[in-house]
Amino acid sequence: MKRLLFLLGLLSWLNTYELFAYSHIINVNIYNTTYIKEITVTVISGEYSFESGNCLFTLEKNCSATITAEGKKITIKSQGQASSHGLKSLYIKSKAKDGVLQIKPSGKYHTRNFEDDFTLTSADGSLRIINNIDIEKYVAGVVEAEVGMFKNKEFYKVQAVACRTYVLKNIRRHIEEGFNVCDKEHCQVYYGKCRTEEILNAVENTRYFVIIDKDLNFISAVFHSNCGGQTVNSENVWSLPSTYLKSIRDTFCLKSKNAFWEYRINKQNFLNYLFKTFQFPIEDTAMVEKACNFRQLNERKVSFLDMTPIHLKLLRNDLKLKSTFFSIYDEGETLLFKGKGFGHGVGLCQEGAMEMINQGFSYDAIIKYYYTDVYIVSYEDILKLNK
Ligand SMILES: [Zn+2]
Ligand SMILES: [Zn+2]
Repeated sequence: MKRLLFLLGLLSWLNTYELFAYSHIINVNIYNTTYIKEITVTVISGEYSFESGNCLFTLEKNCSATITAEGKKITIKSQGQASSHGLKSLYIKSKAKDGVLQIKPSGKYHTRNFEDDFTLTSADGSLRIINNIDIEKYVAGVVEAEVGMFKNKEFYKVQAVACRTYVLKNIRRHIEEGFNVCDKEHCQVYYGKCRTEEILNAVENTRYFVIIDKDLNFISAVFHSNCGGQTVNSENVWSLPSTYLKSIRDTFCLKSKNAFWEYRINKQNFLNYLFKTFQFPIEDTAMVEKACNFRQLNERKVSFLDMTPIHLKLLRNDLKLKSTFFSIYDEGETLLFKGKGFGHGVGLCQEGAMEMINQGFSYDAIIKYYYTDVYIVSYEDILKLNK
């Protein structure tokens, strides 16, 4: 069955793989949107050759070079080597598999270590640095940069598969600018080489694995902190329905940190807000009574009092509530909101996933629990079929 699905889906995959299929290289714009006049690079591991049409020189471990942007051109200097001026572009290539280069930008920017190769150009006196890196090394770097409070080896596997899926799904996101992804939150945060052994192991143990939906497209592996016991259909938050972002019951997160919350507001202020924003009929005592005793006990609703203009996500945004999954209790002068969960509620519930891990569930069981009708497949299998 899986084999048949691969064959059927092959055509839709080819587009994504066109740039990637034979190299497994992702081109990441590092220090994206940062003005960098000059960098000093130092070889941390392996040996690097510096090329611009022809090889300018090679550097061994602990040797450095300084690269400066001058208008649209680049200058490179290294001790004991003739400096080169007026270069249109510069390629820095690792001669070993485990090449690591430290980049120290001028100014207040962070010094970081990056793996594999680099392509540099200059635009208006600022260096543009593209890290041409093996996807698996990139995934490890992203998981480390994006690590939150869930520091657990099985959770790292969930993140590794989600991050790999994301980059392949978005491989054309910056293609017009000459690279695949940026290193900021716009794509996925990436600070270079991963140093955490457990993350490297999680990436290795899930090597090549990605999540696809039943139509064989890469999924958007969205997540939130805590769903409060029921996740949300994607169309209820972002308008667009999806076959895999479906509401499910989740009993795993109910004892976690963000399972419950409370919020109080002055009753009159709340009613005035409803009237001003949604023309809510505050002179209608029956409606006011309903508004002050709104309930979502076991089932999530989409709209407040089923009034179509009052989407619960609007109330959540305006009142800065932790979630849309709340009930309202009338306390006289004030209203008490008793809520469940934290975040938009779509996709994977992080606190629920952590509890599943504590109970012995594996990363793939967790992915299939929170994303409906998905498959975890190796992109390498697809490539083999294509050869
Ligand atoms: Zn981006
Ligand atoms: Zn949950």
